[in-house]
Amino acid sequence: MTTMSLKNINKKYPNNDAYSVENFNLEIKDKEFIVFVGPSGCGKSTTLRMIAGLEDISSGDFSIDGVRMNDTPPKDRDIAMVFQNYALYPHMTVFDNMAFGLKLRKYPKDEIKQRVEEAAAILGLTELLDRKPADMSGGQRQRVAMGRAIVRDAKVFLMDEPLSNLDAKLRVQMRAEIAKIHQRIGATTIYVTHDQTEAMTLADRIVIMKLGKIMQIGTPQELYNKP
Ligand code: ADP
Ligand code: ADP
Repeated sequence: MTTMSLKNINKKYPNNDAYSVENFNLEIKDKEFIVFVGPSGCGKSTTLRMIAGLEDISSGDFSIDGVRMNDTPPKDRDIAMVFQNYALYPHMTVFDNMAFGLKLRKYPKDEIKQRVEEAAAILGLTELLDRKPADMSGGQRQRVAMGRAIVRDAKVFLMDEPLSNLDAKLRVQMRAEIAKIHQRIGATTIYVTHDQTEAMTLADRIVIMKLGKIMQIGTPQELYNKP
């Protein structure tokens, strides 16, 4: 069971007079696939980064399964994050890229191998474990980035515009794969995009943001298919 609670979350960057996120309230259910949508600058990434612990929360309460996490360092949050620009290590093989976080956390070698091989199988990367990111397509790189998150078996999965560097055709294909992967790993997920179609196809619930605030929350059905 992994639920998350964001209560009256506010964020003000020190060098910015405006609030980047204001009075953000959201209760996320176990295994739920939440999508944040909204125009550039509306606070999607900032919210995600506060959940990951990569940005301080100015005020409010963030908890996972009822435990307050505001001051917990990122490595102790049991959260895996996939970035838009992949953030892969170019000099490392796919295997080592996927294994990196596990090595950092001192997992035993044979468990690392098993986890990487399992994730590679899910993502269709089994034949590519010895490649380096430079010799791969954008879609393959994005799979490696997801693999690096999946191997951790984290309770929470965060994705910040993971498909926005891919061409339209690949985006549609990867979207379907992300839905399948979510079914399979069942992690509570928050996915950030400015693409409404992505939001509608992937989300259990969509959070529509504007200027740092939540405008609407609902299922795709509730938000877009009103009679
Ligand atoms: P989105 O992900 O929806 O594009 P962001 O969360 O990146 O939005 O940004 C929300 C607001 O916070 C914007 O007005 C942006 O300019 C501001 N902002 C983002 N990062 C910083 C920062 N490091 N310092 C100051 N202001 C920032
Ligand atoms: P170290 O960081 O200790 O030098 P390596 O990164 O070379 O270790 O490898 C760690 C473990 O993962 C080793 O047991 C190695 O056999 C295994 N391994 C590395 N690359 C692959 C791969 N492409 N497929 C399967 N196992 C691999």
